[in-house]
Amino acid sequence: MKGYDPIRLTEKMESIVVDGNKRKYAKLSRPLRFYGGTTSAVEVGCNLRCKFCFSDKPVFKPQSTGKFYTPQQVFDALDKSAKRYGHKLISASASEGTLGREHLFELLELVDQSDYVYILETNGMTLGNDEVFAQQLSRFKNLHVRMSIKGTNEDEFHELTSAIPSSYQLPFKALKYLIDAKVSCNACVMVSFSDEEGIQQVEDKLYKVHPGLLKSLEKEHITPFPKVAKRLAKNGLKPNSIAFKGKVVNL
Ligand code: SF4
Repeated sequence: MKGYDPIRLTEKMESIVVDGNKRKYAKLSRPLRFYGGTTSAVEVGCNLRCKFCFSDKPVFKPQSTGKFYTPQQVFDALDKSAKRYGHKLISASASEGTLGREHLFELLELVDQSDYVYILETNGMTLGNDEVFAQQLSRFKNLHVRMSIKGTNEDEFHELTSAIPSSYQLPFKALKYLIDAKVSCNACVMVSFSDEEGIQQVEDKLYKVHPGLLKSLEKEHITPFPKVAKRLAKNGLKPNSIAFKGKVVNL
């Protein structure tokens, strides 16, 4: 079998970045421009190793990065910053949002007692591996799941992440489970390394899961920060397109 198993990596990462109801974060809040303004925490720990990942230390050095925080500490910091910037959306990003279910569920309970909407950023590995997870999320009303799909087919996914190719199917299963459980969600696909045919294929695949997914589909392009560019070059990966100053540039 070529590649690592993201589900096994999930267990390994959780043993590093989760401690009871606490999870590791590198930063508790920062304002982001996404969706007209979001306040986001920087989590530590991911179950993929995307070669284009901008996150760096939170993903590649989870052991030595960040500190443990309770859900209340995270919520309070997000709340304080969101109030300052007038944001209605809060999130955690730069790693995988589903690690540490106890922490996540307690955080979502706090969000449900507020007027915020929490954007759960995920690559879909854990949610696609366990249908019950989506059902557990269905009790939270102030939740939206943003499912990030890496590439447009199994081979491209493996090339981008080094994970076992079949794991590419997990986010599609996750979307189906979430839709069945009536959890608000949308998909985004990393297309910087894809061609038009591949993009069409992934659109067809999403249409089969649910036609509505195409309406809210986001196509992601890498931002070539110096560390990202260096990692891509080391791995012999060349993007076909990048994001530069808010625009897509075809190379
Ligand atoms: S899933 Fe996201 S956070 Fe994790 S390695 Fe890939 S790009 Fe980075």
